Amino acid sequence: MSYLVTGGAGFVGSHVVDHLLARGDEVIVIDDFNGYYSPEIKRRNLEEVRTARPAASLEVIEGNIRDRQLLQHLFAEHKLSAVLHLAAMPGVRASIARPDVYFDVNLGGTVALLDEMVQGVSGPLPIFVFASTSSVYGATDKIPFTETDPCDRPLVPYSASKRAAELAGFAFHHLHGVDFTVLRLFTVYGPRNRPDMMAGRLVDSLESGASVPLNEGGRMRRDWTFVDDIVGGIIAAADRRLGYEVINLARGEPVELGRFVTLIEQAFGKSANLQDAPMPKGDVLATHADITKARNLLGYVPKISVEEGVARYIEWRKLISEG
Ligand code: NAD
Repeated sequence: MSYLVTGGAGFVGSHVVDHLLARGDEVIVIDDFNGYYSPEIKRRNLEEVRTARPAASLEVIEGNIRDRQLLQHLFAEHKLSAVLHLAAMPGVRASIARPDVYFDVNLGGTVALLDEMVQGVSGPLPIFVFASTSSVYGATDKIPFTETDPCDRPLVPYSASKRAAELAGFAFHHLHGVDFTVLRLFTVYGPRNRPDMMAGRLVDSLESGASVPLNEGGRMRRDWTFVDDIVGGIIAAADRRLGYEVINLARGEPVELGRFVTLIEQAFGKSANLQDAPMPKGDVLATHADITKARNLLGYVPKISVEEGVARYIEWRKLISEG
């Protein structure tokens, strides 16, 4: 089967590509290798995938999901089973300074893909899987977060743009019958972790000795989820026609930031130079997913404990550092 993975050079996307290739599927990646973080890291992500699977069928298109002409060619030339839409401007905090870019890419890019897909595909439409985020739940005391909770108070442009794209998906489902599955990803970590996220920043600081901020004395709780578990959920969604559904993907067992930091320090074998810092604007104290729906609709069962996940991440970081 043939899958389009947008953002396939990124952290989560490159793992999705790897898993699809491993089971013998054909994968087309579209990624613009933008400078949100080093494009060299994104090229290395795909190089790792190619090295592990030299005989696999992988086509990489360096381009933008807002390029209508490119999308027209793509949908005309490939008979796709699913579009796994992971391309986005990520980052809750970074979005505060650049709201226009976040809405352009995360909402406009999603609409461009959907519009070209429904116009360009003859025959059954590919399943559309959209990577959304736990941050659409906003500031809420209601724990755990359930898919039916109101998500109408996003705190930053990133969350608002993702929530808007979730809603755009419903309109395409209603008008054109697109099977649109929203997956709300909770904090993902693991090999190829985005360098702006806590795990990446912490190991960078352990390697360099530089300080790293520890927000709220480490009392923030996050539903850290190992990337392989997330990818299992994404691929399960790519194989199911569900109409329109919104599904949390997480471990479902939040861990305090301080504990996560300690696990990384232990696995790395060194103490971090931590600097107390307040909670950043736009962040929330806790995220915690109810994953019942993922279990019921996708057969999703997260397998990797945070202890094992951190150990695997550090093992990968050490390999990368050794070159
Ligand atoms: P990432 O930045 O590593 O990957 C995103 C990829 O999309 C990058 O390679 C980037 O170059 C590409 N991209 C961005 N804009 C593009 C455009 N206009 N055209 C083509 N390609 C473009 O991020 P990630 O952490 O792997 O996140 C993947 C998806 O999951 C994103 O949609 C993100 O919002 C979502 N998500 C991630 C997390 C997490 O913890 N990592 C949590 C919640 C949601």
